[in-house]
Amino acid sequence: MQDKCGIVGAYSENGEVSGQIYYGLYALQHRGQESAGISTYDGKDMSTYKGMGLVCDVFNDGNFEGLKGNKGIGHVRYSTTGKSLIENSQPFISEYESGHIAIAHNGDILNSMQLRKELESEGRIFYSTTDSEVICHLLIKEYSETGDIVRAIQNISEKLKGSYSLAILINDDLIVVRDPMGIKPLALGKTDHTIIAASESVAFDVIGAEKIRDVEPGEILIINDELKSYSMPGKGNTPRSHCMFEYVYFARPDSILDGRNVYDVRLNIGKYLYREHDVEADMVMPVPDSAITAAIGYSRESGLTYGEGLIKNRYVGRTFIMPTQEDRETSVKLKMNPIRSELEGKRIILVDDSVVRGTTSKALVDVLRKAGAKEIHLRVGCPPIISPCYYGIAMATKKELIASDKDVKEIERVLGVDSLGYLSIESLIKCIGIEKEQLCTGCLTGEYPTELPENIEEYEADHCC
Ligand code: SF4
Repeated sequence: MQDKCGIVGAYSENGEVSGQIYYGLYALQHRGQESAGISTYDGKDMSTYKGMGLVCDVFNDGNFEGLKGNKGIGHVRYSTTGKSLIENSQPFISEYESGHIAIAHNGDILNSMQLRKELESEGRIFYSTTDSEVICHLLIKEYSETGDIVRAIQNISEKLKGSYSLAILINDDLIVVRDPMGIKPLALGKTDHTIIAASESVAFDVIGAEKIRDVEPGEILIINDELKSYSMPGKGNTPRSHCMFEYVYFARPDSILDGRNVYDVRLNIGKYLYREHDVEADMVMPVPDSAITAAIGYSRESGLTYGEGLIKNRYVGRTFIMPTQEDRETSVKLKMNPIRSELEGKRIILVDDSVVRGTTSKALVDVLRKAGAKEIHLRVGCPPIISPCYYGIAMATKKELIASDKDVKEIERVLGVDSLGYLSIESLIKCIGIEKEQLCTGCLTGEYPTELPENIEEYEADHCC
């Protein structure tokens, strides 16, 4: 699974911002590895540099140094809409009659196909297949009609259905926006001379900035010498709906999202997994890296020894989806190698953050068995995923999700584990520490915080990984 993107926006009173944006993107690399880009504005011109690959590959020769200006935005991308092409990389930039615009977007617009058709029928031409270009056209259209950028954003917020955290550079204005439900995270930080907004607070730590607060759901913030905050229509009346999966898997454990420390949430997940699914065993171990903190939580609560039975090769990028079980095992072994001496003859509690299709879990179980594990008890920090995500997480279609049509006992059999225990939704909500009514749990319940696209099959074909 991959999230769709990380964004940064920065303004400095007295210096260039491209370096700070670059380091911020580095810290957000886990949110997208397909492309990276930065746009800056120096009071006269807008400059953009973007390319395919990791931040370190795109900006491999200090080539962000040509990006002049004291305000700018940055983006790392993993696609759920649009193919992995340079045209679809971000920031998305465009010229219009009064200047330049650059947009960095994290999220997914459910009605983007319909909006795009409407814009095309008005004669607007598209160069990419991304939601961000749809937002860009809408913004230019509304801004040209109203002459007021805040009003233009307020107007388009009434048209956009879905999730969006945005960093926008429109001529001399740096603006950050969070959708009315706050599905995707967006936080605000500062140093003595710089104000920075980013998808996660880890982007602040790397440049020595301190987190001020989260951008509020439904907030439009103009960042300049001072911060000016505006509201979208209906802000405050729309229930929040923060993505629970950010806490379980996507966000870095050293981030603080909407007031909750992700590391603490994951320790709690391990603790509650033990309380709900205790079983006799010799050792608890994680599927690295994302389940490490939950496995530590399980170990602390149970008193069981924490160990590493699998070592992750951190230098493997994306691999093709392998056609046969044997090939899939090779792909898993490339990423995870077992430590036989830790596993042989042992009863293992294997903690994972989630099970989506089940193919990786099954291959891992086979690897552990071959390395000598006597019993494998899988404990999963996320309740069964029964339905796809429509807000920017590339999971799978409904029929590909193992829990969409199988109960726990059937999944246990398919994966070949001795026992399987999922964290309950009630405990997950306690672990996160945000009220149930303020969390999105759509992929766990099939009940989503927005209307869904009319043509789900067409939408899935366009958006799923
Ligand atoms: S459907 Fe699931 S993954 Fe998608 S936003 Fe909601 S909780 Fe997050």
